[in-house]
Amino acid sequence: MSGPTTGPEAYPEIRDAVRALCAQFPDSYHREVDRERAYPAAFVEALTQAGWLAALIPAEYGGAGLGLAEASVILEEINRAGGNAGACHGQMYNMGTLLRHGSAAQKARWLPAIARGELRLQSMGVTEPGTGTDTTQLRTTAVRRGDRYVVNGQKVWISRVQHSDLMILLARTTPLKAVAKKSEGLSIFMVDLREAVGRGLAVRPIANMVNHETNELFFEDLEIPAEHLIGQEGQGFRYILDGLNAERTLIAAECIGDGRWFVDRVTRYAKERVVFGRPIGQNQGVQFPIAEAHIEVEAADLMRWQACTKFDARAPCGTEANMAKYLAAKASWEAANACLQFHGGFGFAADYDVERKFRETRLYQVAPISTNLILSFVAEHVLGLPRSY
Ligand SMILES: Cc1cc2nc3c(=O)[nH]c(=O)nc-3n(C[C@H](O)[C@H](O)[C@H](O)COP(=O)(O)OP(=O)(O)OC[C@H]3O[C@@H](n4cnc5c(N)ncnc54)[C@H](O)[C@@H]3O)c2cc1C
Repeated sequence: MSGPTTGPEAYPEIRDAVRALCAQFPDSYHREVDRERAYPAAFVEALTQAGWLAALIPAEYGGAGLGLAEASVILEEINRAGGNAGACHGQMYNMGTLLRHGSAAQKARWLPAIARGELRLQSMGVTEPGTGTDTTQLRTTAVRRGDRYVVNGQKVWISRVQHSDLMILLARTTPLKAVAKKSEGLSIFMVDLREAVGRGLAVRPIANMVNHETNELFFEDLEIPAEHLIGQEGQGFRYILDGLNAERTLIAAECIGDGRWFVDRVTRYAKERVVFGRPIGQNQGVQFPIAEAHIEVEAADLMRWQACTKFDARAPCGTEANMAKYLAAKASWEAANACLQFHGGFGFAADYDVERKFRETRLYQVAPISTNLILSFVAEHVLGLPRSY
């Protein structure tokens, strides 16, 4: 592969190819999908067929064998082109959990089928209604009975379940009172949704602000074959954290894509829209928030590359992944705000796509981790301030 490997034009061949694919799905396609509250099935299918969603799968299993850096460029370009990678980004970061912690038999069983586009691994079930961000307190249990685990409990906000075949589930296998550290005794499992739904797993969709397929899950004596346990029993929290670093870094890249989309759109509009006999972009009151947004998006991008580089080198990257997600989500949100503001009333018209992208990028201040929790991580784990919880 030629060209730079960090920065706004890194991996030019991937960018060009993803841009060409995205060009077949113009704004009107994404607008219509949003209006219908539908799943962008044709778009996700095209990405799958082109192999982009198997980017992280090693070549020996039929994937492209690329790293998180390249995966981040794919997702960034989707958002930069006006789409929303949230419909399919789950496969990218869930893959890492299977790749890094799955057994040889598990990888051989699932990865080739995912690479061929026959199976989707789009979902990860962590969040619970009763415990929220306080993950180690989660109440869903998986109890070993012979060659099975029996799962009981509830999850909330679990995305893409209706468009996935597989889901990674985090559940408690040893009661909290029986472990030395609260992060111990949690395990991760691969749930085959095709077998589970209707046989111990009920799915209830949640209508929400974004066109994002997300659900409540109810587990009642769901049986999972014991060989679906990923890695060692009790170590699931550690494995999930690895996956969360990938997720935060990839979502940072999506926010960078959003941020550039907003800056491009508002710059173009501010040059064209004439009020009081001159383009609105001639006023510094309009120029400065746009310039500020551009600076912040580009600065956030630098931290995204640090996170990618460390993740791909298997170096600890929690600090960079969290800081990249914080900076990028903040920058894209500020770019969205400037874009909406300077489109005036037209910013609210669905036909301009600004209000749709505005809603989509707003999510990343809350999910997959809220801004406050990132600040708390940096305060306590990077700066060594006293623990607050
Ligand atoms: C559209 C969408 C899709 C999602 N998809 C998934 C998914 O696929 N899988 C999954 O597992 N989860 C998913 N989530 C859940 C998401 O990760 C959580 O919503 C998020 O982590 C926040 O948790 P919570 O909603 O329980 O908020 P809470 O934990 O209840 O927190 C509420 C607010 O209080 C603040 N807060 C809480 N504690 C503190 C503290 N100690 N200090 C300062 N502030 C604090 C938080 O910052 C937050 O703003 C999704 C959420 C949404 C909205």
